[in-house]
Amino acid sequence: MLMGAARRRAVRVTALVAALLLAAGCTTVIRGEAKRVGAVVDPGSAAGLKVTEGASGPRSGVADAQITVENADDGVMDRLASNAVTDVQRYWLEQFPLTFGKPYEPLRRLASWDSGGKNMVLCKSNTAGVENAFFCPSEDLIAWDRGGLLPMLSTNYGPMAVVAVLAHEVGHAVGHRSGVTKLGMPTIIAEQQADCFTGAFFRHVAEGKAEHFEVSTGEGLSKVLGAMFALRDSVGSSYTKRGAHGNAFDRVTAFQFGFGQGPKRCAAMDAKDIDARITEYTFAKQDDTKGNLPVNEQTVKAIVENLQAVHKDTGAAPPEITFGGSCAAAAGAAATYCESSNTVALDMERLAQLGKAPAKQERARAIGDFAAFGEIASRYVLSVQKAVGMKLTGEVAGLRTACMVGNWAGSLLQRPYGGRNPVGTLRISPGDLDEAITQLLTENTGMAADVNGKGVPSGFARVEAFHVGFLDGISACTEDFR
Ligand SMILES: [Zn+2]
Repeated sequence: MLMGAARRRAVRVTALVAALLLAAGCTTVIRGEAKRVGAVVDPGSAAGLKVTEGASGPRSGVADAQITVENADDGVMDRLASNAVTDVQRYWLEQFPLTFGKPYEPLRRLASWDSGGKNMVLCKSNTAGVENAFFCPSEDLIAWDRGGLLPMLSTNYGPMAVVAVLAHEVGHAVGHRSGVTKLGMPTIIAEQQADCFTGAFFRHVAEGKAEHFEVSTGEGLSKVLGAMFALRDSVGSSYTKRGAHGNAFDRVTAFQFGFGQGPKRCAAMDAKDIDARITEYTFAKQDDTKGNLPVNEQTVKAIVENLQAVHKDTGAAPPEITFGGSCAAAAGAAATYCESSNTVALDMERLAQLGKAPAKQERARAIGDFAAFGEIASRYVLSVQKAVGMKLTGEVAGLRTACMVGNWAGSLLQRPYGGRNPVGTLRISPGDLDEAITQLLTENTGMAADVNGKGVPSGFARVEAFHVGFLDGISACTEDFR
């Protein structure tokens, strides 16, 4: 988060919006339906697939795929990757003709390297020390690092995160074969398409149709989405930069589009679609904390002041904030809301821990400041829901809460053009939205929990609800989650 951003820019945006409204001659607020992940967000499903909490990973008792992989050592990682590429390509053999009206050509070459071992040359590049996976169009090759990237992902996010990486690389091949990925187009478009194709394949897995893998639509899918935190661009890059893959928030959105709407949605991704919804921006000049404010009484007071400003129009009386203690309803949580006294109680030690910047590629308890401030906001918005007479218990209340935290985030984003007019002087920094969804995907998150701390089983739905509020504002939250 960034405090004390200049207001000058906001004024200019207001003037622009006013001019546009004048030109259009109307003041109707158009909801961002086209930008939505799916039509209905349901706490018990992932885009219509009922939430399951079964196994996720390689299916037991299924023979490994027999395919040729250059330089493979046939260890666990190579077998995992080979099985993944096989299942993903089987999916495309069936789906590609339905989507693009022509047959799918399997990849000509597959290769494996060890970033910590003997180097080799692939796609005219030396693999020494390269922890990555890639698709090389000129050699029609997909290759992966079995020594660094794959085991890191598998250890931190489970084997299905490895499957996601291979599905992404095959997704690039699909983009090239179909012609939706054009040489020279901004990399972010090709990357969003590949993430979207990955989501489409994962729906097939979630439906139980993949030979070698299964994924539960509850925690299983949450872990795959959570892996985007490790796979995101370095915080503060711009989506217009060559080589941009997107931040975690945008990558998860693309995945969800594919999962919810299938490969045709991915094929429709173009510069216009991307410019309208992408959130990967560079740091503001004055952002000297690099997006991570310390979580202390002083910063929390500023956050609460901003929450008051954002919710002023609701007429709700702001809750009292207490540092220390917790409310009986959700005793033990880092932030709790006491309905009877209209108080938000905060465990500052735990919030400060959660709000620390994470070490690179680490899945630790530290996520970043927005994870902590989002928890606080989630309890704050319960007070607003109470004031307008909404029920504070149950899964729908959990989703509405996530949606309203999304609305708050959307109120603080300074887009280069368009978007909402930011409220106050607090701003979203690069990385904040990634922290928001990472916290949302964490088990026992408060950001999508009801007043008793009871959460929503589908992590997929939690992120979607946040997205609805982020794009469409608070009225969408009260309308969609009643
Ligand atoms: Zn890629």
